[in-house]
Amino acid sequence: MRIITLLSAFLFSLVAGPAFANEEGDEPQWSIAIHGGAGTMDRDKMTPEQQAEYKAALQNALDAGAEVLRNGGTAVDAVKAAITPMEDDPKFNAGRGAVFTWEGANEMDASIMDGKTREAGAITGVSTIRNPILLADAVMKDGRHVFLSGSGAEEFASDAGLERADPEWFATERQKKALERMKARQLSAMDVDHKFGTVGAVVLDTHGNLAAGTSTGGMTGKRWGRIGDSPIIGAGNYADNRSCAVSATGSGEYFIRVGVAQEICTRLSYQYRVEALEAQLSVPRDEKGWPSYIVHASELAWESDIAQKVADEVIAEVVELGGSGGVIVVTPEGHTLFSFNTQGMYRGRADSTGLNEVAIFADE
Ligand code: ASP
Repeated sequence: MRIITLLSAFLFSLVAGPAFANEEGDEPQWSIAIHGGAGTMDRDKMTPEQQAEYKAALQNALDAGAEVLRNGGTAVDAVKAAITPMEDDPKFNAGRGAVFTWEGANEMDASIMDGKTREAGAITGVSTIRNPILLADAVMKDGRHVFLSGSGAEEFASDAGLERADPEWFATERQKKALERMKARQLSAMDVDHKFGTVGAVVLDTHGNLAAGTSTGGMTGKRWGRIGDSPIIGAGNYADNRSCAVSATGSGEYFIRVGVAQEICTRLSYQYRVEALEAQLSVPRDEKGWPSYIVHASELAWESDIAQKVADEVIAEVVELGGSGGVIVVTPEGHTLFSFNTQGMYRGRADSTGLNEVAIFADE
């Protein structure tokens, strides 16, 4: 009988996943990380004023998400609160300021996922929705489908009563010029952009739930209805309370092929099981040879360096295939981390312990 109890308790501990941060006194009660794209960010090519403007925009998004969390709001609401100001900010390639397609239009993609229920919503190729992340959320809340495209997504948006915007709202001179440069010099999207301006947020809320959201205009000069990783659940975005929440930015074609966001979460939950098993095997035995107690998930050294290692390994696979970019990750314990292979990534993170930082370059 005792063996069965021990075994079932241990097996349950493996299935249940890591203990939530709020069971630990000094762990964050809530955490948030955001990104505004990764890429070639040269200190010499950005004036101090430009750097300050980007940092202020990141801080603004971070504050909006943190405010929701401080007030006990949900992870999904915090993701939306952080992403919408970046969609409205022409500095980023999402919503206003989205890149142009080959034909000269702005076609946007977005996705959101709730780590508690693993419900998800995604949209691609919309051109009139002011905040695409809110449309992805409406798709998730509706629940009949996960992924809507083009005119169907626009039609769904009418039923959901989402705010529209004219093409002039999204179009910026900067992105128009990027398309012109690309066409004139026959550059690839990578060569012309040098950086990705996709935005994203990952969150742990005070209820112990995770969520992730990503929003983008895609890549300059995209053609033939091209869809990147950002709206693909598992590639550019993923959240599962048992492992982590991830939002990606980078050369979408490679992120799709590696299945980056879900791959990180899957490897993390596997790694967790390995840790749990090793810890249980090291427990002292009683006189009959049975483990003297069952290790609880909260006793495991489930530190952020394991998550960092996993994220770095998955990004290394993207690089190996020829891609580049990065991810933001939050774990169920509230550890926030970044992994990218580019010179920089617009990024920020904050949590209930007082952590608050925004950064651009890799060495910051
Ligand atoms: N990942 C996006 C895409 O491929 C681009 C970006 O991150 O800016 O559409």
